Amino acid sequence: MTLRQCLRVGQARLLDAGIENGDAEARWLLESVTGRAQTALLLSEEQVSDAVAKVYETLLARRIAGEPVQYLLGSWEFYGFSFAVGEGVLIPRPETELLVEFAERLLAAHPAPVILDLCAGSGCIGLSIAKLLPRARVWLLEKEQAAFAYLEENRRRLGVENAVLIQGDLFDGPAAFGLPHADLLVSNPPYIASEEVPGLQREVLREPASALDGGADGLDFYRALAKDWLPRCDAAALECGETQTDAVAALLAIHYQSVAVRRDLNGLPRVVTGTDPVGKEPICCYN
Ligand code: GLN
Repeated sequence: MTLRQCLRVGQARLLDAGIENGDAEARWLLESVTGRAQTALLLSEEQVSDAVAKVYETLLARRIAGEPVQYLLGSWEFYGFSFAVGEGVLIPRPETELLVEFAERLLAAHPAPVILDLCAGSGCIGLSIAKLLPRARVWLLEKEQAAFAYLEENRRRLGVENAVLIQGDLFDGPAAFGLPHADLLVSNPPYIASEEVPGLQREVLREPASALDGGADGLDFYRALAKDWLPRCDAAALECGETQTDAVAALLAIHYQSVAVRRDLNGLPRVVTGTDPVGKEPICCYN
């Protein structure tokens, strides 16, 4: 078979299996096994070796069986950076970029901001911020061993030098880790209500339940953040589910004078931010 034929066959197989984005996914997978870019694949009459065809075939079969394409590719782009991903770590999602965007704007003029990223997972939020704000010091906390290994790999991969990685559980509270007072806390904690987890899309069910399950009402992590962490942070930006923004805003309002809900590219309310800590003179006019 030629490369071009391989691509057509792969695309047909994924689309027949009901994979909506099958056209692009078959191409990404073929690109990853051949190291060739899209245009070369579309035109190439070059013969594919048996070995390459076999690897491609295995990836297609795994995709059809429900593995997320991001895990098969082994990396995924977020905010223009390429993060290593695989089993055991949540795949970075575009809506989460809102948190990075907020941090970048809030702290652009700060000479040496301290930032905490809790439930850091792959590190996509905190490591992106560390890259974008070289004068910042970012502390990333992640509990799970598998995710923590990706966090370490991604710090190396991106060449980040201004980040500290800590393996630990945010429910132990900030005192357990000796973390400094922060200018900003960012987090995309697990926020799906426990009973909704089994009904998630089959690809999402391949991701770690510990990164998705936020307890009975999905809000366990936000309550812990509000109780122990927010009093030590001058601002916070938290991702949550689209139906949870009122509850999360109420928790942030305990600690911040300005609370705002921000929408993702699909117009869904996704991120709640708090600035101007209660009890301090409001200095931050950011909105
Ligand atoms: N955004 C993810 C989803 O909807 C959930 C991530 C999370 O719980 N933090 O699948």
